[in-house]
Amino acid sequence: MKRRLGLVITAAVLTVILPVTSAGANPRDDKSKVDDRVKELQQEFEGLDEDLARVIAERDAAEEKLPDAEAASDKADDALAEAIEKDDAMAARLTSAQNAQKELKTSIKDGAEEIEKHKTSAARIGRQAYQNSGITSDLAMLLQMAEGTSADGGIGRVDSAVRSQQRTIDNLSEQRAVNENNEERLSGVTDEISDLKDEAAEAVLAKEAAQVDAKKKADKLNDIITAKDDAEETISDNKAETEAQLQKEKEEQDRLAKKVREWEKEQEKKGKFVYGDGELANPAKGYPTTSPFGYRIHPITGAKKLHSGTDFGVPCGTPIHAAGDGVVVGAGWTGGYGNRVVVSHGKIEGDSIASTYNHNTKVKVHAGQKVKKGDVISISGTTGASTGCHLHFEIMKNGGYVDPMPYIS
Ligand SMILES: [Zn+2]
Repeated sequence: MKRRLGLVITAAVLTVILPVTSAGANPRDDKSKVDDRVKELQQEFEGLDEDLARVIAERDAAEEKLPDAEAASDKADDALAEAIEKDDAMAARLTSAQNAQKELKTSIKDGAEEIEKHKTSAARIGRQAYQNSGITSDLAMLLQMAEGTSADGGIGRVDSAVRSQQRTIDNLSEQRAVNENNEERLSGVTDEISDLKDEAAEAVLAKEAAQVDAKKKADKLNDIITAKDDAEETISDNKAETEAQLQKEKEEQDRLAKKVREWEKEQEKKGKFVYGDGELANPAKGYPTTSPFGYRIHPITGAKKLHSGTDFGVPCGTPIHAAGDGVVVGAGWTGGYGNRVVVSHGKIEGDSIASTYNHNTKVKVHAGQKVKKGDVISISGTTGASTGCHLHFEIMKNGGYVDPMPYIS
């Protein structure tokens, strides 16, 4: 019993010293996960503020951890309820055994007094019988009995006294048996109490460990809920501003596309509008695509947003090459796109095709300039609504944004 108690203590202490390390519980893992997500978000939504990206990443991380944390907290609560129940039950059993012990002790004490009384009574009856019978000794009594003297005489009185004494002696031995039995029960109950005390102590330790664990799990869950709520509040606070900013970018995008389209129409009117062989090349060959063209749900506004080009992960200062032969329609600062170069490639398979190169540190060409495929037209950067060095490359087909990849691969 004592040994088992020792083991329980060790387990309880270990639980306190070594917090349960479930997957993802390591704060360093959490941080690097959030950092990775921030990078991802900023690639997915160029121009997304880093602090906001972090808030979104933290919200997502909290949402991901929430179900496990809820389950763990519920489980710990259940374990605590069970431990409390066990503790209560052990305490009740101990009290009941202690009451039984008290009752037995009283019974034994009362019994002992009873035995003393019977003993005294038997002795008194004996003495009185002898005194009343006139028989002065056991021998004289035996002699009288042997001679068959009348029952009305002294021997008769002795006989009745002996029967009375016998009853007393019977009572005495009965009481002795009861007391012996009670002594045995008392010894059993005393042993039981000793065991119950050990078990009750174990139950208390287990309950305390369960309380610590339940509190820890509840705290963790609350931390996650608080983090999620805080993040959502920040996101909500920034929604209107972000919507306005995105709207501004969209207007700029449409305005620039319209300008290019007007220019193209003018050229089409003039007749011949073909500059190259109709084949375009990758302007950042050898660099990875970090964000493809397409629609995606914005994490702050919750609205669909078009990523109007393909992003290439080029470091700042990298020379950017014209995708094909053409004429520079525009080169210079444009706001959200930063330093932008637009090159018209004329008609390709019946459509007017233009390419754009954005977020440059520097532009190396000017409007109206003719370029050949592969000419350096700009130096990459992170100007405008951009949070890291990259090239945002677009293809415009008849003034509309399309996926550039089929044109350059
Ligand atoms: Zn982009």
